Amino acid sequence: MKAEPAAQRRLLDLATIDTELTRVAHRRRTLPELAEIVEVEKGLQARRDAVVKVETTLGDLDRDTRRLETEIEQVRAREERDRKLLDAGTVGAKQTVDLQHELTSLARRRGVLEDELLEVMERHEAVEMDVAYARGQLAEAEQKLAEAQGRRDAVLADLDVVETRRSDERKRLASELPGELVSLYERIRANKGAGAALLRARRCEACRLELDRIAIAELRQALSDDVVRCPECGVILVRTGESGL
Ligand SMILES: [Zn+2]
Repeated sequence: MKAEPAAQRRLLDLATIDTELTRVAHRRRTLPELAEIVEVEKGLQARRDAVVKVETTLGDLDRDTRRLETEIEQVRAREERDRKLLDAGTVGAKQTVDLQHELTSLARRRGVLEDELLEVMERHEAVEMDVAYARGQLAEAEQKLAEAQGRRDAVLADLDVVETRRSDERKRLASELPGELVSLYERIRANKGAGAALLRARRCEACRLELDRIAIAELRQALSDDVVRCPECGVILVRTGESGL
């Protein structure tokens, strides 16, 4: 293939842009924030579960409290009714004894319920602290996640800007070069990762290998508009005054 030396040299600009675009794409995939976000999200679910668990326990204790308070209230009402009956003095001797028995057993029952209520309230207090702690841990993880996402988005936005600018430059540059040359460049790049490289001091800048004497002799015989390839890695070798030919 033939191409003007100037067009060949501009392939190096295309290669520089492609290198940067590759770097941007790599950066996008390997942002440390991505791993951080995955890590925080893992912890976040565990913390959400922890909050639900202690909130459920607290709800159960609330229900127990209400149940015990109601029961105590019912016992109290019964005691009051019994006492009023006794105080009124209108009941007979047998009923008086029955009422006194009932009052004793109601007092015992109320004592048991009140102890139970006290216990539930103590547990409630402890679990309230657990809930506050679990919510704090969750809020901390959520904040960490938001921060990591914010940093990720900022870096991605920067990368978008670079990518858009470089892609536009690339499009413009490629449109100004001979189509055949660009096609060859693209084909090599698809296979090798690089499409063109400078030959500097007899060394291919893509594979970093120094060309042997036979290869150098062949390059010396090639015309300046011949498109030549690196015998080692196959990229288009761009010759300039620095090539050492
Ligand atoms: Zn090479």
